[in-house]
Amino acid sequence: MTGLSDSFQRPINYLRVAVTDRCNLRCVYCMPEEGVKWMSHSDILSYEELLTIIRASAELGISKIRITGGEPLVRLGITNFVRGIAQIPGIEDIAMTTNAIFLAKNAAELKKAGLHRVNVSLDTLKPERFKKICRGVDQGGDINNVLVGIKTAQEIGLNPVKINVVVMAGVNDDEILDFARKTVEEGWHVRFIELMPFTGHDGETPSGLTTRELKHRIDPLGKMEPYKHQWGNGPAKYYKLPDAKGTIGFISALSEHFCFSCSRLRLTADGKLRPCLMSETMIDLREPLRGGISGDKLKELIQLAVTAKPMEHHLSEGNKPNDRPFCQVGG
Ligand code: SAM
Ligand code: SF4
Repeated sequence: MTGLSDSFQRPINYLRVAVTDRCNLRCVYCMPEEGVKWMSHSDILSYEELLTIIRASAELGISKIRITGGEPLVRLGITNFVRGIAQIPGIEDIAMTTNAIFLAKNAAELKKAGLHRVNVSLDTLKPERFKKICRGVDQGGDINNVLVGIKTAQEIGLNPVKINVVVMAGVNDDEILDFARKTVEEGWHVRFIELMPFTGHDGETPSGLTTRELKHRIDPLGKMEPYKHQWGNGPAKYYKLPDAKGTIGFISALSEHFCFSCSRLRLTADGKLRPCLMSETMIDLREPLRGGISGDKLKELIQLAVTAKPMEHHLSEGNKPNDRPFCQVGG
């Protein structure tokens, strides 16, 4: 096995797998308040089907898996799924992105099953604001669940636990310093994410802040030094404030896009392999799988998606995907 690389010689070793499009939250930048029309259960790939795809991908050279959604912890049986991935030869890293509402009660089992680490999405430290941004439904509106989830994950060793913060002008940009201080006072690893335009935004959606603006806002806390160790596979650039145990990362999808180092493919919950978050090209794996495709033919389809990877997303030039909201693309 020599590994996968795309038409621009980028090594491709990372697959993001959405296990569901459903979610117990409705974050303003991700989903409309009324939710989206959920995919039906039969549209969504079974865990067996997902494992077949991951196995074929691993044989081609994929070594890192991120489980995402929708909210991965709302899908029943997720721990067994993690255990299944951990048994696939060639998979070296298994991570999850979660809103952490259900993390505290699942963290220990997930760790035991083979999950290495989690990223937690949290855009505010204020309980009332949390309810507004995430519009929690069912058991989703209580920020304490997230905070306890983060602590539990840290204690159990799902480290580094990274906190993803989407910064929005006039909504939570007054908390940039509070999040940055958490890296000093509590050793958090905080990543500020530039808001991306997306279908699923409703009328209230505000504008994002650029990484340059974010860095400027953090100036009062001292000079940030670049932090050399780049974890995982991600696009974030990391820094440390003086005396901080934790780090501050910036994910600048728009202002300083990182397409030149992109190593990823995305699998949607209904089995479409997307070469790029922003591209509308999708390769359907579900119907071929259900039609009994051979392992070799499946690998050919995966290879096709790799070859179809565009050079870059052109988001900053106004390119905006309009076919699916974030929760349905394998965010
Ligand atoms: N439900 C999980 C969560 O929230 O962590 C996983 C899925 S969510 C779609 C994955 C990530 O996408 C989250 O960190 C979220 O903040 C981010 N996201 C969603 N919509 C976004 C947007 N319009 N711009 C930037 N990031 C976005
Ligand atoms: Fe749900 Fe995550 Fe989207 Fe928020 S960002 S609505 S938690 S999928």
